[in-house]
Amino acid sequence: QSNQWEVDPAELILGEEVGSGQFGLVLQGRWRERSVAVKMVREGAMSEEDFKEEARVMTMLSHCKLVQLYGVCTQHSPMCLVFELMEQGCLSDYLRARRGRMSQDTLLGMCLDVSEGMAYLESNNFIHRDLAARNCLVSCNNVVKVSDFGMTRFVLDDQYTSSQGSKFPIKWSSPEVIKYCKFSSKSDVWSFGVFMWEVYTEGRLPYENRSNGEVVEALNAGLRLLKPRQAPEAVHLLMEWCWKELTDLPVLLIDDELII
Ligand code: ADP
Repeated sequence: QSNQWEVDPAELILGEEVGSGQFGLVLQGRWRERSVAVKMVREGAMSEEDFKEEARVMTMLSHCKLVQLYGVCTQHSPMCLVFELMEQGCLSDYLRARRGRMSQDTLLGMCLDVSEGMAYLESNNFIHRDLAARNCLVSCNNVVKVSDFGMTRFVLDDQYTSSQGSKFPIKWSSPEVIKYCKFSSKSDVWSFGVFMWEVYTEGRLPYENRSNGEVVEALNAGLRLLKPRQAPEAVHLLMEWCWKELTDLPVLLIDDELII
């Protein structure tokens, strides 16, 4: 009774390094005639037991706008994660490298790709928790796909997982995430608004000159990111919808659960 998501290390060929992230090095490779990206999990970087339980669910999520998790190699410790290879790397670098050379159709197409991946996640009751241009990847034929969905749950680094931490993505987070760590498909929608802003500014950092504390204060005062020059009115309106606060609704906190 073998686990379908278990990758046999004998079938895995490792190649050059293509990046590094929160969990460690990412190598290019081959697995069963496919080009893959292999995340080599660094010792102590991931809560591996929790991830193994979730890996079954995550390998079953399959959509053309999601970076596919093919499987996990748990026979060695630390383990490694085998993903679909995205030849053109992360979207934030891709945008910055092509500043001033992308058409309106291209920018809108990126937003559409990611909205399709996110709609699929929501229809499967799966919350991303860290949607941002840095967590989207670009394929060899310029398709943008959503990556790293749900992975922050397995990060062992308080600076990253606590909303007080220095690496927490405050600038992509909705007010209820910042205040109560209340993640939902609605908080993913907030992040999607910031993601669209990143696309239409061609990879600028949101609230560039503000600290996390200043951003929280500005949000509380009702301020929002400004319309990127390249964004059509309709796209800007969509961003603003993503950043509507839920505070006009009655909010109840029971045992740390947010009830709306
Ligand atoms: P982590 O989730 O561990 O923080 P990332 O997902 O940010 O790591 O990956 C780090 C870098 O590795 C990315 O910026 C990208 O350049 C590269 N990378 C990650 N996944 C892939 C992939 N599936 N295909 C190609 N490159 C990838």
